[in-house]
Amino acid sequence: MHKKLFIPGPVDVREDVLLKMATPQIGHRTKDASALQRGISEKIRKLMYTENEILLSTSSGSGLMEGAVRSCTRKRAAVFSVGAFGDRWYKMAIANNVPADIFKSELGQPTTPEMVEEALATGKYDLITITHNETSTGIMNPVDEIAEVVKKYPEVVFCLDTVSSLGGTKIEVDKLGVDICITSTQKCLGLPAGMAICSFSEKARKAAEQVEHRGLYFDLLELYKYIQDKDYQYPSTPSLAHMFALDYQLENIVAEGFENRFARHLEMAKLTREWANKHFEMLAEEKYASNTLTTIRNTREISVSDLNKELGKRGYMISNGYGKLKDVTFRIAHMADTQIDELKTLLSVIEEILGL
Ligand SMILES: *Cc1c(COP(=O)(O)O)cnc(C)c1O
Repeated sequence: MHKKLFIPGPVDVREDVLLKMATPQIGHRTKDASALQRGISEKIRKLMYTENEILLSTSSGSGLMEGAVRSCTRKRAAVFSVGAFGDRWYKMAIANNVPADIFKSELGQPTTPEMVEEALATGKYDLITITHNETSTGIMNPVDEIAEVVKKYPEVVFCLDTVSSLGGTKIEVDKLGVDICITSTQKCLGLPAGMAICSFSEKARKAAEQVEHRGLYFDLLELYKYIQDKDYQYPSTPSLAHMFALDYQLENIVAEGFENRFARHLEMAKLTREWANKHFEMLAEEKYASNTLTTIRNTREISVSDLNKELGKRGYMISNGYGKLKDVTFRIAHMADTQIDELKTLLSVIEEILGL
């Protein structure tokens, strides 16, 4: 039996979107491939509220995260971490021999604008990475306030991980001054995993030009140049199956309306928070709670794996905690094409199983 996924990626994918992956292949050096890829970039530009170029990568989001920190750090990167994915970005920098420092918040706490100000004021850094929505803790960072600080440092390339938020909440790339905004297909966009997307600003491009060893497959400058020279084609063979489905799904997202989609996510988040506060506790403070998933403290010390077994019999799946939070929290994702009524049903099924 298919289990409806309420895990923070991969998400449940609509049947019609899945079927688009079975579109017959086309040559990746054809005009049709150019048109497909150009069309996707134009739609993503709207969803990211940016005029910047869009790069598509046949990889998961981690590929572009690694590419960003490696391709665009000239001096030293300041990596801000509010959990597992920020920590991973730091590891990527170190593994690529990119000088970097990590600034960690306590689990469940956000990155504050003060932390960013203090680090950037040292003048040591020319690239900063921020996790917009931390999928382990269910924290959404105060990115508007952080962006105000970053704007005071025009030499700093601003990288933002929106892997678990883009398409589920409004992220205005140009207004925030984000240079590289990164996302994956398998979260709020509602597609299978296997493609990653980022915006790439002029500032990021100029920074990359000064970096000698940018790697190759994830060299963002190489991707950028290639799509300029070759009319939106890519150096390697992309996953055309994803391209067909992504193009189609972006049309669905436009048809739903961006504002409607963001409002649906917020409403689902509010419902889940209310439910969590009634029966358990939230890990995040209300102010920083994510709109796309909720991390719940396991205050009743339930067995999450037993709960998931019972949910599985009924056709649902939620997520245990991540990393250090594995046993003390569990997570309910409310993203992509999940509808409000489906979430309500899930919550009542959990109540029934737990006898709440
Ligand atoms: C899932 C996730 C990632 C990793 O993305 P992949 O597509 O799995 O490589 C990075 N950051 C955040 C916030 C995530 O939720």
